[in-house]
Amino acid sequence: GRKFFVGGNWKCNGTSEEVKKIVSTLNAGEVPSQDVVEVVVSPPFVFLQLVKSSLRPEFHVAAQNCWVKKGGAFTGEVSAEMLVNLGIPWVILGHSERRLILNESNEFVGDKVAYALSKGLKVIACVGETLEQRESGSTMEVVAAQTKAIADKVSNWADVVLAYEPVWAIGTGKVASPAQAQEVHSELRKWLQANTSPEVAATTRIIYGGSVSGANCKELAAKPDVDGFLVGGASLKPEFIDIIKAAE
Ligand code: 13P
Repeated sequence: GRKFFVGGNWKCNGTSEEVKKIVSTLNAGEVPSQDVVEVVVSPPFVFLQLVKSSLRPEFHVAAQNCWVKKGGAFTGEVSAEMLVNLGIPWVILGHSERRLILNESNEFVGDKVAYALSKGLKVIACVGETLEQRESGSTMEVVAAQTKAIADKVSNWADVVLAYEPVWAIGTGKVASPAQAQEVHSELRKWLQANTSPEVAATTRIIYGGSVSGANCKELAAKPDVDGFLVGGASLKPEFIDIIKAAE
């Protein structure tokens, strides 16, 4: 089976005091064992070392981005090699905030995923449609094109978690219904089946993100193709522990 995966994307939030507080809450939380759930939290770059060195060892850390190729004269960027050097195992790539606000194209995200994997990072790759795209009926077309741009450049999916994050659900409190999430996850799995391999389709975790909370996580987790969550706002709160418990 696919091990349940819960990611906490802290986005551009936190002071060192707040980060220490979140870490101590996470460290004190009673959660299911590592055999049942994989937990990864993603603080801003500047707090990665602090979190990695103070977080309980069964929880792991992810960067929120990395550069598309080898480092060098790219002011302000952080390379995959640097993350590997610091022992950061995971990176989030293709988040809609970077696609939409920083204009990252499908191809650029595909290149980033391939490069990060080639350096040994594990990747949480995000896809998702805007409200306008959903309302015009192009949800599957959009997420398939985003996934294809990754699949075109990646052959080994073992270290990829695919995060379906509808843009209209992010930070809005308008969570996708369990049926809406299941529908897209199951279509994505079919897409993987047809375009990668049955094995990749059966084993790749497809997680949901967008206004996940302690109150709605159980219902979502009950859906057969929802293999976990990528949590934004609620990952900064003690409620994140309740979301980890949805794995059970
Ligand atoms: P919220 O949980 O705050 O809606 O954010 C979701 C998200 O973007 C996680 O990457």
